[in-house]
Amino acid sequence: MECLFCSIIKGDIPSAKVFENEHVYAFKDINPNAPVHVLIVPKTHISSIDDIDAGNVCAVAEVLKAIPEIAKICGLENGYRVITNVGEDGGQTVKHLHFHLLGGTKLAVKLN
Ligand code: AMP
Ligand code: ZN
Repeated sequence: MECLFCSIIKGDIPSAKVFENEHVYAFKDINPNAPVHVLIVPKTHISSIDDIDAGNVCAVAEVLKAIPEIAKICGLENGYRVITNVGEDGGQTVKHLHFHLLGGTKLAVKLN
């Protein structure tokens, strides 16, 4: 079975798109933890940060490069937070690398 975020990128599962280019897709988190909560993913399937290698690091760089533009689209002029969860202890539930973009309020400093 294909992964959830690959299905979203393909358009087989609907999403609230915020941004898209050749390498990157960004959409609203279905269960937001902040006034702005967007998920930013590479279009190519990478399971997590643990699976970044020489062959796919350019796709990850494209994701990071797109973040300021996506933050601007979301009106986050006053700052924001970017999080990526890895594995069981990190709380990763979807095994397709994604960066949570959070903002729209003064975020609490809370690590767990
Ligand atoms: P993580 O727990 O870091 O793996 O993050 C997965 C995120 O995906 C969670 O914040 C979920 O709310 C979000 N999510 C799950 N399914 C969907 C969906 N169909 N559309 C948008 N966001 C989703
Ligand atoms: Zn995937």
